[in-house]
Amino acid sequence: MKIDERIVERLKKAKKAFSLTGAGSSAPSGIPTFRGNEGFWNNKTPFSIRAFEENPQKVWEWHQEIKKMIKEKDPNPSHFALAKMQKFFKDFAVITQNIDNLHQRAGSVKVIELHGNIYKNKCNECGKVFGEIDSEKIPKCGKCGGLIRPDIVWFGEPLPYRALMKARVYAESSDVCFVVGTSGVVQPAASIPLIARENGALVIEINKEKTVLSEHLDFSIFGDASEILPELCERLL
Ligand code: NAD
Ligand code: ZN
Repeated sequence: MKIDERIVERLKKAKKAFSLTGAGSSAPSGIPTFRGNEGFWNNKTPFSIRAFEENPQKVWEWHQEIKKMIKEKDPNPSHFALAKMQKFFKDFAVITQNIDNLHQRAGSVKVIELHGNIYKNKCNECGKVFGEIDSEKIPKCGKCGGLIRPDIVWFGEPLPYRALMKARVYAESSDVCFVVGTSGVVQPAASIPLIARENGALVIEINKEKTVLSEHLDFSIFGDASEILPELCERLL
């Protein structure tokens, strides 16, 4: 695979970098993407507060199913390559839209989760945070009696403020941004690479196909993230 020498030269000089990852970086682990619509989840999946209010037990069960599926998967070479990037840059963060915890499992330390984490939960009433809960029946909050829900961002919900602010700081102060396996249509995450570019970062997209972001970035490398990212790491050694 041909990785432009100009990319390698710029990367070698960079000190601060980050990667924005989407469902495509976990696809080689066997976790289907959402838009890919490979049957597991699609537009009818109850990923909304409305669905939760209508039938909390059903939504809870659905998320337990997702968690079970995700638990059986392992990080792939794209996750390990991003963990390795921590050695090449003085400061390197992974800003992810994924909820699967695979970056952490691969060894990434600074992981900023924009859409939450399937292993975490919170009270839908008072916001109290809970760790992993294995239960077929939807649990109730010991503090206020409210229903407990997965601590992930559903459609129409705002992103966690602190995570978004941290992401913004990286976007405004990094030398390099990798955009990995994300379609660029989920806002506000999709604007992060554009903010990085406006602030002088070299922005490199890695995706199986062209996205709405492609023509606004510096370089696009088309292919499987689990092949391209390890190769990029090799070039940086
Ligand atoms: P998305 O909009 O980011 O689309 C996935 C992108 O990955 C597409 O552009 C596709 O071309 C690309 N892609 C697929 N396989 C790839 C590969 N092997 N290498 C490189 N690129 C590849 O994400 P989505 O699937 O529409 O999901 C929307 C939201 O749903 C996510 O932001 C997330 O919150 C949630 N979700 C999470 C997971 C997860 O945690 N693994 C999986 C699916 C959906
Ligand atoms: Zn509560």
